[in-house]
Amino acid sequence: MADEVQILKSRTEAVSVTPMMRQYLEVRSQYEGYIMLYRLGDFYECFFEDALTASRELELTLTSRDCGDGKRAAMCGVPFHKSDVYVGRLVERGFKVAICEQTEDPKAAQGLVKREVTRVVTPGTITDTGLLKEGQNNYLASVAFGTTGAGLSFIDVSTGEVSVTYVDGDDLTSLLYNEIAVFRPSEAIFSAKTELSELIREKIGTVISDVPKTAFDYSAARERVKRVFGDEGDKLPNPECAIALGSLLYYISETQKTDVAFVREINVYTGGQFLELDTSTRRNLELTESMRNKEKRGSLLWVLDKTKTAMGARLLRSWVLKPLVNPITISHRQEAVGAFEKSLKLRETVGEVLSKTLDLERLSAKVVYGNSNARDLRAIYQSIAGLPELKAAIASESAGSIKEIYENIDTLEEIADLFGRAIEDSPPPTIREGGMIKDGFDPDVDYYRSIKNGGEDIMRKIEDREKEETGIRTLKVSYNKVFGYYIEVSKSFIDQVPDRYVRKQTLTNCERYITQELKEMENTIFSADERLISLEYEIFQSLVNVVVENAERIRRTASYIAELDVYRSLGEVASRFGYVCPDVDLSSVIEIKDGRHPVVERFVTDSYFVPNDTVLDTDDNKVMIITGPNMAGKSTYMRQVAIITIMAQIGSFVPARSAKIGIVDKVFTRVGASDDLASGQSTFMLEMTEVAAILRGATSRSLIIYDEVGRGTSTFDGMAIARAVVEYTHSKKIGAKTLFATHYHELTSMESEFCGIVNYNVAAKKRGDSVTFLRKIVRGGTDDSYGIEVAKLAGVPNEVVKRARAILEEIERGAVAPVRAEKKPEDRGFDLFTDLASQKDTEAADRIRALDINTLTPIEAMNVLYELKKSLEY
Ligand code: ADP
Repeated sequence: MADEVQILKSRTEAVSVTPMMRQYLEVRSQYEGYIMLYRLGDFYECFFEDALTASRELELTLTSRDCGDGKRAAMCGVPFHKSDVYVGRLVERGFKVAICEQTEDPKAAQGLVKREVTRVVTPGTITDTGLLKEGQNNYLASVAFGTTGAGLSFIDVSTGEVSVTYVDGDDLTSLLYNEIAVFRPSEAIFSAKTELSELIREKIGTVISDVPKTAFDYSAARERVKRVFGDEGDKLPNPECAIALGSLLYYISETQKTDVAFVREINVYTGGQFLELDTSTRRNLELTESMRNKEKRGSLLWVLDKTKTAMGARLLRSWVLKPLVNPITISHRQEAVGAFEKSLKLRETVGEVLSKTLDLERLSAKVVYGNSNARDLRAIYQSIAGLPELKAAIASESAGSIKEIYENIDTLEEIADLFGRAIEDSPPPTIREGGMIKDGFDPDVDYYRSIKNGGEDIMRKIEDREKEETGIRTLKVSYNKVFGYYIEVSKSFIDQVPDRYVRKQTLTNCERYITQELKEMENTIFSADERLISLEYEIFQSLVNVVVENAERIRRTASYIAELDVYRSLGEVASRFGYVCPDVDLSSVIEIKDGRHPVVERFVTDSYFVPNDTVLDTDDNKVMIITGPNMAGKSTYMRQVAIITIMAQIGSFVPARSAKIGIVDKVFTRVGASDDLASGQSTFMLEMTEVAAILRGATSRSLIIYDEVGRGTSTFDGMAIARAVVEYTHSKKIGAKTLFATHYHELTSMESEFCGIVNYNVAAKKRGDSVTFLRKIVRGGTDDSYGIEVAKLAGVPNEVVKRARAILEEIERGAVAPVRAEKKPEDRGFDLFTDLASQKDTEAADRIRALDINTLTPIEAMNVLYELKKSLEY
């Protein structure tokens, strides 16, 4: 079409533009890397590239708007009152959003309405509770590289949590990656982009944001730290840490558009304070999410988390990711957990208050950063109203940590009282339309409200009087936005209208009039309403200020609530699942009687979970070589030992009859199938990389789990490597407590060669050619994998099982190559039947090829085998 208008999709194409578009482009140019929502009337609009992205991501219709020079800009928009949902979706997908508001009243503006970016929302700086995951922190991270190491800082803007640490060492990238992976920040800034930023973007999904170089300037960073934290900043061990923290403060004030920061005290920590767990160990042991579908269900956290508040859930999560190494701190936690484990009444009374407590931390952050409404204040009220009751519930507890909470918790009664009296029970979401403040709280509010609400009454009174005076039965006093108050008279009565009525509008069936009295009444009511709205807004702001001024008190209370919630949760789990309090000390012994796997035992519901004992030390029981058939329970057993140790160091009770845990400094795991195949490294290469990391990092205080080593290469090669690894781990160079599951029965000979290597196997009973798993760990090795029996159990066709047995016998007899199978008559030539059969075979083979063994559970594997067998029946 000749007159088709050109639609511009890029800002660079817009040259000669309308004044509004010029304003848009000017503001937009200051927010590179953001999507900008530009307020136009009742909508937020995106233009050009932003419009293309937003319409794709939010499924919005792409339209266009005149942008000058006879051209149109690509455009899409969302209604302003729904913007939160759309902003949330964009941020969830890793975009950063700048919101450009009208900063003057459009009605009062002369010419173009002024606009400014009033808020930017990025993945790591969200304070809107609706956009955040409840039981998880949302961290913003900064990495400040120095000459040898790097300062790391993490802030959860929504809760005020601040952590700082310094990392250095040989393999800095992987050390930093390990630490950052604990926090899983949603956004990070770097003093220099390196392979690390790429790695965490790819593996953790962190959004990497740009900040000006000056944000990492030492003296400016130190200044900022000083301004926000005062002398507390002196705690920082070195310039890199100050730079990391200072750069975050810079980024937060840039994004929140305020200098106020909602932060707790700085938690400076060092690696030595916590049990070290690397990324693959946290994953292999399924501490916070299951390996298979990355969900909380099926993880240790899932079992332990009976918390009632989001704050407690977050704290517990951080405890699980960072278990302790100090027996005294651990025993303090145990004591508090014990109090809740023992007393159902305590659990119930505390639980009842906690279940009414909302996310006090995030609510107050939201208020402090100026993004709140009266509903948030009401939620704060609800969360603090129960504090006196909570305090009373723990009054007679003797456990040190609970006593400390009792003595220090601030019940914030005067705030609760104020908010309780001031804020409506269910206030509206807007703060500029009134309806937030309760009757009886403020005499002025009451006064204007009575006038406003009187409007209806007055109108009815005027209507009655006018009806009577004029004798017009159908006369009505009404209101609309355009004319305000008016009197409506139907056409048939027009001649009865008195002179004092002034005609305003003629409709088909009626006329509308105003009178002097109505005008005056209208003014009074309108100004009362306006006054009321601004008065309520002022009161709301003063209540917001109460939160701002008391932020520190509220935050400290919130952290006590979180702590109590975690003790209560661990106590409840201990009592419900029959856990015991482990003896935790600095010895080098791990001795577990009747230990169970806390997660697997929750899933084994139709049978009995078989408990097992463990003795590990750094003398006679240093390395356990564990053999036994597939599916016997080796992995479960080894993980259970590691998980019980970790639980004990968290301060939790453990699933066992009794447990004595000598504190370990690091737990390592190296587990058979790795789900990292997609990364392109071969499984064997990956296996060896993991083994290398263990051999380099482990100490005599560590606990190591090897679930198969050397399986990814040829038998002799693999066996040689496995043996060398055991020897090295057992030697003085490491000497760590080790569980080693293997298929190489040859390794069992090491027991007689080395003091401290002990053979165990998971008992299985062979009856005829079938096998029963007893799930019991017993002393001694096995020389049989029962592989063929397990294959039979899994439903592998009889013919294959029989053939496997024949081959095995041959091999055991020493034949170099397996005997050839007898050729069957069907094998010769083709016919319709064999064609069909081979087609089925091909289909079956294709299915097998498509299987992802790494993510298949044993049960699923059996199901697949069953289906395959079925499909091959011809
Ligand atoms: P392996 O590592 O020897 O192949 P697993 O540890 O994976 O075996 O165990 C296989 C299955 O056996 C587990 O999924 C679990 O359901 C069951 N199992 C393992 N240990 C026990 C036990 N102690 N009691 C009951 N069932 C168990």
